[in-house]
Amino acid sequence: MSLDINTLFLVTIYVEAMLGLLLLFAWVQNAGIMAVAWWGSAHLLRAASVVLFGMYGSVSDLISIDLANAVLFTAFAVTWTGARVFDGRSPNPLGLFAGAALWLLVCRMPIVTESIDARVLISSGIITSYTWLTAYEFWQGRGEPLVSRWPAIFMLFAHGALFLLRTPLSAILPWSVNSQVFESVWMTVLSFEALLFTIAIAFILLAMAKERTELRHKTAALVDSLTGIANRRAYMEGGALLARRYDSNPKPTAVLLIDLDHFKQINDTFGHAIGDRVLQVFADTATAGVSSLDLLGRLGGEEFAVLLADCDKQKAVSVAEQIRTEFAMQATEVDGRPVNATVSIGVALCEQGPLDVSAMLAQADQALYHAKERGRNRVELASLDLVLRLDSNTPSLRIDALASHRAA
Ligand code: GH3
Ligand code: MG
Ligand code: MG
Repeated sequence: MSLDINTLFLVTIYVEAMLGLLLLFAWVQNAGIMAVAWWGSAHLLRAASVVLFGMYGSVSDLISIDLANAVLFTAFAVTWTGARVFDGRSPNPLGLFAGAALWLLVCRMPIVTESIDARVLISSGIITSYTWLTAYEFWQGRGEPLVSRWPAIFMLFAHGALFLLRTPLSAILPWSVNSQVFESVWMTVLSFEALLFTIAIAFILLAMAKERTELRHKTAALVDSLTGIANRRAYMEGGALLARRYDSNPKPTAVLLIDLDHFKQINDTFGHAIGDRVLQVFADTATAGVSSLDLLGRLGGEEFAVLLADCDKQKAVSVAEQIRTEFAMQATEVDGRPVNATVSIGVALCEQGPLDVSAMLAQADQALYHAKERGRNRVELASLDLVLRLDSNTPSLRIDALASHRAA
């Protein structure tokens, strides 16, 4: 097989550019793992420097490749250090710059500039060390291997092994330098890497597509498509989660059950589309009215619920009142139509004991029933101890009555 140096350059450029793009692509898809972006950029930089070298360079003018190598080694180190940092350990500054520093120290020495063997030996050794260190971190279950742990470990191990293979080849076989044999073996190694990276890109693209589809399905199963808030299933699962957390450390909790008043009439008068917009306006108002720690969900139709974690009676009532008044204001006019929508809210409290969200929803439903019965657009509190203390004939009581009782 007859090979020229240009073919070798082309394959190197292909491998470097492919790996750089692969990493940048993975970085964009996974958003935010900066180590991966640096690593990818360094490979692109190296591809560019090989292009420049191929166009203008001579063997005595290796400076651009030397600098690009230093960047590349640091990028490998960043990936390795990144694998440690993701695990909460502090980065290792020595490890971060050791490869680049070693390279910049020795790459201008006569023995290195004169001998391709020495160059290959040192640069391959640095790359193999870093890739295997990173593979080791992933193998130990640490770090953030982008898509999937085992393919990442395999790729890193193969990458390191290929460079290791290159080292003894040039070091042990002195006749290989600049010979056709060395070039053809090295070419095979590079082509194999190019093939590996191409397969890896295909693999990662497939894995990402699968992940996105799974995420879409998972999201669809938990999010209400009209309002974008949690659906009944997500609300109940969130409630169960909180109940488990409160098992060991119980805290007062409140459930608000909210139903739009005369919603059928709104649909009949303004049409289903405006009805849908009213539901969205409610979801937005309620989202703004609760904290990010609380759980808001659409249980179905025009019925919503809020789970207020670590919330006493006074706060529950004030949140419910705030949602009620704010919504009445927001829903006076929707899409230019005078809908004047309002809500009724039933509030249930769990002041001590194990949290049972289903039981609280049933209590809140009773309170909601009374709110409807007593004219709508109001908040009713279902609380047994309060009922007994204040008015044994009324199973729940109006919030303004509660307020005046407190003031008295
Ligand atoms: P009340 O004050 O007693 O709650 O009266 P209401 O009219 O709100 O109660 P009802 O349960 O009779 O009506 C609920 C209506 O909500 C019936 C249904 O057509 C409407 N609805 C349920 N889901 C949706 C939806 O997703 N979009 C729209 N636009 N309407 C819906
Ligand atoms: Mg209803
Ligand atoms: Mg209703």
